[in-house]
Amino acid sequence: MHPPKLSTINESPRAMVIFTDLDGTLLDGSTYSFDAAQEALDELHTRSVPIVVVSSKTRAEIEPLRARLRNEHPFIVENGGAVIVPSGYFPFQLTSATVRNHYSIVELGTSYGLLRQALKEIAQELEVELRGYGDMPVEEIVMRTGLSRQEAELAKQRDYDEPFVVDNERCTLDALTQAITARGLRWTKGDRFHHLMGVQDKGEAVRYLIECYHRQADRHRDPLITVGIGNSLNDLPMLKAVDRPILVQQPNGSYEQDIELLGLIHAPGPGPIGWNRAVLSLLA
Ligand SMILES: [Mg+2]
Repeated sequence: MHPPKLSTINESPRAMVIFTDLDGTLLDGSTYSFDAAQEALDELHTRSVPIVVVSSKTRAEIEPLRARLRNEHPFIVENGGAVIVPSGYFPFQLTSATVRNHYSIVELGTSYGLLRQALKEIAQELEVELRGYGDMPVEEIVMRTGLSRQEAELAKQRDYDEPFVVDNERCTLDALTQAITARGLRWTKGDRFHHLMGVQDKGEAVRYLIECYHRQADRHRDPLITVGIGNSLNDLPMLKAVDRPILVQQPNGSYEQDIELLGLIHAPGPGPIGWNRAVLSLLA
């Protein structure tokens, strides 16, 4: 099968913004390396195209990664739980933001304490075992994710989203969904875990930032093209929010089957390999 031809963009590359998932997308699903995307990353850096990380990871996990990526742009944590913008990044005040640690933070998610409580109640109600990150010792997270011990500790510093596993096969997805929505909450599926969260999603957080980038671009009268890149179901709201949605392959070469979207670009390659090829095609 030939890889699909990607459409090119004629507009100024300065007015492009790329929103990207991390695990299994910019980062390799098992090694967590972005080496395979380096060529495209360098090109985007040269052209000053902002890359906005949009992940289910925590702020504590994303900060060291941003440093390795030499990325000084806003980022979105815990499946849209909060939008975090470096102070002074946009030349205007952000609505609903609180200022903390050199960041303007826009909180969209439900507090972690509430999610933990709800997870326990739902497990009792359905008589199944639901193990969240809050129930898992660091060693168990290391074993389930392949993260280092130090990284797993950063992953446990959660504010708005609880990854969990359903260990009991008696629990149907329907019953789980019902119990979650009855509490005004939602769940989604990432690469390795289900995620319990409030009504926020990656799409709402991405739309907030797109609004900001549009406002900034309008000042320079530049047309703005938004690009989103993901690999799993929790990326669908983000992909729906952008002009150019891109889906990378899973390691086995398949595409997440639950993602169907008009205009969806199927990147010819898994994770950072597909990321690299799709972005270079967009820039060509
Ligand atoms: Mg992913």
